[in-house]
Amino acid sequence: MTVSIYWFRNDLRLTDNVALAAACSASDELLLIHVRSPDENMATPWGFARRGPHRQRFRDQALAELRREMASRGGTLLVLDGPPQQVLPMVAQQIGASRIFCESIAAPEEMAQVAGLREAGLDVHDTWQSSLLSPADLPFEIAALPEVFTAFRQAVERAGVAPRPASPAPARLPPPPPRLPLLLESGPQPAPPCADPALDGSEMSALAHVTRYFDSSAPQSYKQTRNRLLGADYSTGLSCWLAVGALSPRTVFHALKAHEARFGANESTYWIWFELLWRDFFRFWSLKHGVRLFGARGLGQQPPPGHDPQAFARWRAGQTGHGFVDAGLRELAATGTLSNRMRQVVASYLIHELACDWRAGAAWFESCLIDYDVCSNHGNWLYIAGRGADPRQGRWFNPDKQAAEHDPDGSYRALWADPHVEPVP
Ligand code: FAD
Repeated sequence: MTVSIYWFRNDLRLTDNVALAAACSASDELLLIHVRSPDENMATPWGFARRGPHRQRFRDQALAELRREMASRGGTLLVLDGPPQQVLPMVAQQIGASRIFCESIAAPEEMAQVAGLREAGLDVHDTWQSSLLSPADLPFEIAALPEVFTAFRQAVERAGVAPRPASPAPARLPPPPPRLPLLLESGPQPAPPCADPALDGSEMSALAHVTRYFDSSAPQSYKQTRNRLLGADYSTGLSCWLAVGALSPRTVFHALKAHEARFGANESTYWIWFELLWRDFFRFWSLKHGVRLFGARGLGQQPPPGHDPQAFARWRAGQTGHGFVDAGLRELAATGTLSNRMRQVVASYLIHELACDWRAGAAWFESCLIDYDVCSNHGNWLYIAGRGADPRQGRWFNPDKQAAEHDPDGSYRALWADPHVEPVP
């Protein structure tokens, strides 16, 4: 009798969950667990909670639905609070589990959690599954990953590397062990209100969004619309579900291919693949460089950044005095979402105009964004700071020029105008 634990991390889904499928086929009894680490609720050194209310709500929605789906397939999902390195060995001992299955994540804290479980004597089977392309299919070893995105993309495309097929959701799950652990189970918390209730973190919503988006003609004009700031479907809107793992990038890829077969492939549909490759690039890049990406200097040779706490506090509150930048920061704080273009504008403003530490901005994004993803977030911040994968030594976005180009009639600024300030005409 093999009793195992499946530990859900950033893979809150059934469809195309290779690590979960491996656990199912190797276990007679399987306990499904998600652990909320207290690290998530810690205050950051910059003075705010690490996981803000929008992110909490989104993840809790994903968990609530996953729990229902598991129950309908004969499984039991427990949501426990505590450090995974302590909680999981205790549960394993109580239920007599010999093995833990989970996905692997290319970030120092997450890798330390797995190392901690192994030190506690557990047999951990971690499977890489969060990228579109499998590391084993790349035409180079991770240690030889090109440092620049274009070289990575060209090497992948030249070698014709294609994503593997997505696997279906398991119809049945092994039953849970008869004696469940005596730990206090907390379950998802009541969700705080959200500015956009349509953004629900569950796998069901993710798959419904994929179907609706790729059944529409929106992908045909993605490249022309992707830099917009307002409206529906100007970009795919998939990142939030990819981040909690309610959706796998391979599911997205196969929906994109089906769309191309029906509507035709063009530069816009190619660009969705192109952007998904950026996501992969930052994942592999994190695997290659590890903890170095989290230091003040990143991969750069420049001196560490300075910091101005007052300017940072005004930036966070959307009160820098620059209407366009402030509109973006208010949207972020109010909704937990922000377009790619506005992320670039506000990040550039913090780093290059306010001379603040890029890590403070990255931490604020971590707290707010429902699509927060450690690899994509750090990769992009480092890129703009010129301390990462940028051959041009940093990206400066002129905020006046950006406002004129992307918000010519001021409607974005008007929407997010401070109610205490005269609205922009
Ligand atoms: P689309 O434009 O439709 O792109 C399709 C998919 O490609 C996205 O869902 C995403 O998975 C991927 N993608 C697109 N652009 C990028 C990019 N620049 N880097 C990596 N992947 C990309 N994205 C996150 O998912 N999580 C983050 O924490 C995050 N932090 C960011 C921080 C900064 C400073 C910047 C400039 C960008 C950040 N991004 C992050 C990347 C990008 O802004 C979002 O992925 C995108 O806005 C999500 O909207 P979408 O799904 O409609 O994207």
